[in-house]
Amino acid sequence: MKHGVFNGKKKALTFSFDDGNVDDIRLIEIMNKYGLKGTFNLNSGKMTHANFWRFSDVKDVYHINFTDYPDLYKGHEVACHSYTHPDLTKLDRNTVINEIKTDKLLLDLMYNQNTEGFAYPFGTYNQEVASVLVECGLKYARTVNSTYSFELPNEPLVWNPTCHFKDEKTEELVQKFIELEDRNAVFYIWGHSYELVTEEDWQRFEKLCEKLAFKDDISYITNIEIISCITDKDS
Ligand SMILES: [Zn+2]
Repeated sequence: MKHGVFNGKKKALTFSFDDGNVDDIRLIEIMNKYGLKGTFNLNSGKMTHANFWRFSDVKDVYHINFTDYPDLYKGHEVACHSYTHPDLTKLDRNTVINEIKTDKLLLDLMYNQNTEGFAYPFGTYNQEVASVLVECGLKYARTVNSTYSFELPNEPLVWNPTCHFKDEKTEELVQKFIELEDRNAVFYIWGHSYELVTEEDWQRFEKLCEKLAFKDDISYITNIEIISCITDKDS
């Protein structure tokens, strides 16, 4: 194949970050500086500073006050992550519907969009939950299972990412992806911005972005844009 499926390019790089917390502000600044695109999976029922928790005993993680930062995610994709972040596989069907439908409705309103993406809270999923996603009009759902490969998402409701940004194999994968030439490939990196704790963590993350940025043969796109490119390729 001469041309790639991702806006004429064979390689696509995408990120996704969950839970919508205040560290997204600095993270997005870095992503924007390097022209990178990602998807932010939000729990609309938690988008307030009234809701915070302690991460690994090192810092309090505050969710974003939506009213303070209504445009924070501009240029990126906002996707669902359920209304209150429960383990959906442990709930009855109606509660699952409520968690997903309410989240989508609110995000549609808050961001003036038709929300189409999803990430499973805690990465847990089953057939029942996936069927509710489809019923609610969502088109794909990300897990937390690393593939360590650059496969295209052939099963969008069980979209396994390439790796977590803090994974020890990430650096090696970055190099591999940059050198890759012969086929359509997706590099999907996920995580939470609150996992960036020390200045060293932030510098390491920025280095990773810098390495991957501004390559002529890579399309920098959001999760849903990848799904659209793949769906459109046969038409
Ligand atoms: Zn989460």
